[in-house]
Amino acid sequence: MPARSCTREELEQFPELEWNSVAPRMQSDVRCTIEHVLEKQEGAAVTREQWLNLANAEGDDLIALLVAANALRAELAGNIVTYVVNRNINFTNVCFIGCKFCAFSRGPREEDTYFLRPEEVATKAVEAWQIGATEVCIQGGLPRGLAPYYYRDVLRAVKAAVPTMHIHAFSPMEIVYGVELTGMPLRDYLLMLRDNGLDTLPGTAAEILDDEVRHVLSRNKLSANDWQEVIRTAHSCGIRSTSTLMYGHTETPAHWVDQILMLRGIQNETGGFTEFVPLGFIHTNTILFQQGLSRPGPTLAEHLKIHALARLVFAGSINNIQVSWVKLDRKLSQLCLQAGANDYGGTLMEENISREAGATAGQYTSPEDFQAMIREIGRIPAERNTNYSRLKIKAPFESFPAEQLLEPEFA
Ligand code: SF4
Repeated sequence: MPARSCTREELEQFPELEWNSVAPRMQSDVRCTIEHVLEKQEGAAVTREQWLNLANAEGDDLIALLVAANALRAELAGNIVTYVVNRNINFTNVCFIGCKFCAFSRGPREEDTYFLRPEEVATKAVEAWQIGATEVCIQGGLPRGLAPYYYRDVLRAVKAAVPTMHIHAFSPMEIVYGVELTGMPLRDYLLMLRDNGLDTLPGTAAEILDDEVRHVLSRNKLSANDWQEVIRTAHSCGIRSTSTLMYGHTETPAHWVDQILMLRGIQNETGGFTEFVPLGFIHTNTILFQQGLSRPGPTLAEHLKIHALARLVFAGSINNIQVSWVKLDRKLSQLCLQAGANDYGGTLMEENISREAGATAGQYTSPEDFQAMIREIGRIPAERNTNYSRLKIKAPFESFPAEQLLEPEFA
């Protein structure tokens, strides 16, 4: 008999439930998998087929998965929810790649194009520093004829203006473009960027790391293998990165499982991922949806399930599961935090990419808003740096030290 779908009410009320009350209603094989992970706090020994069963969980099994992920999060990451004060700088919206899920990019002759020179990027970094940002996240479209050393020159300009600003910049797609523009070997190119101020790399441009799906989403994007090569090489150069997955378009639960296991494998080799960030597809203004090639974004069940599944699969490997709040409304972002996540990402002054695609969560969440949303669900807000190696616990929890140093996980 097919499992029933959960109602919205059930999905919104799962945080009130305890494992002992939901476990008896589960199918025994799914329960067995979850109990193993809860007991060992480690996902390594679970097979792909067992994860696939969890990724397909519905009804009582799904509710139990969410409850288990919340409990495991409490064990592995505690009650603190972290965030970083940062500014997004999208230096140009001109791009020739043509991803069908992207509503941000423009052709070079469209009216509303823009391009920032390195000094203009640096000016935005200075403004961000003056109001408390510790990180700038710099990404953009790929315009034809970009100056070969533009990415290096942006790093130089920002570091010259604000030497202590953390620069989180350039997707693997941009790195591949920089390699093409300069003719340098990948490793040498990454070392040059690192030596000019690149601190960490966004693990974006991953979407779904399966070439058949990628062919539908974007024929000109780097391949799944190229993405992995850029990330592995960056990690080997001491440049850490985030890891991402875009869900809610044409992919299936099997793609989720394969990608999460692939990322877990890379993490076991390099230790270079700081976090995993599930990115919900915003369909509204995209060609992918308008051409009938995708579903209309994720369901509530999918939003919650991907965060919960990630918490379990990454147990013992990647400890930070991030909620990408710009793609979600307030209530949903809080539910995702209760389904296994422990980080809210960045305050992101000036977030353009999701907004162009139709996201309504806004361009900026102030640290005070983050703190309020975190306290509303009974958790403790803490500002972090990009590497999660420093936390500032926010009042009124004055029994905690004002500043707490954690050991960096990656040398
Ligand atoms: S997602 Fe990035 S690479 Fe793709 S079209 Fe948009 S800006 Fe260009």
